[in-house]
Amino acid sequence: MNLTDLNQIRPLLERHGFRFSRSLGQNFLTAAWVPERIAESAGLEENTGVLEVGPGIGCLTAELSRRAGKVLAVELDRALKPILAETLAGADNVELLFADVLKLDLAQLVRERLPGLRPVVCANLPYNVTSPLLTAFLTAGCFESVTVMVQKEVAQRLCARAGSAEYGAFSLLVQWHTEPELLFTVPPDCFVPRPKVHSAVVRLRRRESLPAPVEDEALLFRVIRAAFNQRRKTLVNALCAGIGEVTKEEAEYVVKKAGFDPKIRGEALEIGGFAKIADEIGKILKPDL
Ligand code: SAM
Repeated sequence: MNLTDLNQIRPLLERHGFRFSRSLGQNFLTAAWVPERIAESAGLEENTGVLEVGPGIGCLTAELSRRAGKVLAVELDRALKPILAETLAGADNVELLFADVLKLDLAQLVRERLPGLRPVVCANLPYNVTSPLLTAFLTAGCFESVTVMVQKEVAQRLCARAGSAEYGAFSLLVQWHTEPELLFTVPPDCFVPRPKVHSAVVRLRRRESLPAPVEDEALLFRVIRAAFNQRRKTLVNALCAGIGEVTKEEAEYVVKKAGFDPKIRGEALEIGGFAKIADEIGKILKPDL
């Protein structure tokens, strides 16, 4: 069965009385080239174990199953269970799990269900929970890469460089852990129902080593959040507003000590610059260290 052919999908869904749920971000792919190209981009081999979030009716799952050692597909909507049993019959290396992926311990799941395999994520994500999902993939710390379709604007934010309008705290979180690449875009007419937004596929490759040395990673992200919570302010003003223990004079001192103009805005700084500032603030907050 061609799982992206509308003439085959419609009768299948009708036979099972399936109704699309907007709140679950259900937009299924209807252009064969898209799941093929996503699966191709994920760099799968026999020793790869793929976590897929939201198999839907299984069009991407089938492509992943052909290329990887095993696919663990986690779907929240139980109404898809009888459909997937039919569409993926014979795909012996696919394990389906009906659960909310946001409630699972992903590192434990990988240890238990993808043992001995190189774990990666590959999925067409439900767009309403993209940020919590990406944060969960990054903080699980076990995935070699994450190849996912997301809303195009989100993809641009993940890959944004310092100084651009899309650059923000989330770009820095992603770029701290991974090297992101925007691979290709996908128009709304490749889905049913058609989403209002354009989509893009990104690949996030886990870094072998962190992009900059830093003493205290939690403090680094406090500094980044402070800078972007008030991105129109200078970094000095944003720091003393966002980090209660730091006075304006101290903020000015650390920005200069890290080698920057005290009038600079946070949005102009690359991750290495934030790391230097976090280290200088750390010396003020914990002078004995
Ligand atoms: N993979 C299919 C495709 O490309 O045609 C469907 C992708 S659709 C954009 C997103 C899928 O994620 C839906 O099947 C939806 O039910 C599922 N989903 C939504 N929230 C989820 C969650 N928290 N945990 C697991 N699956 C979820």
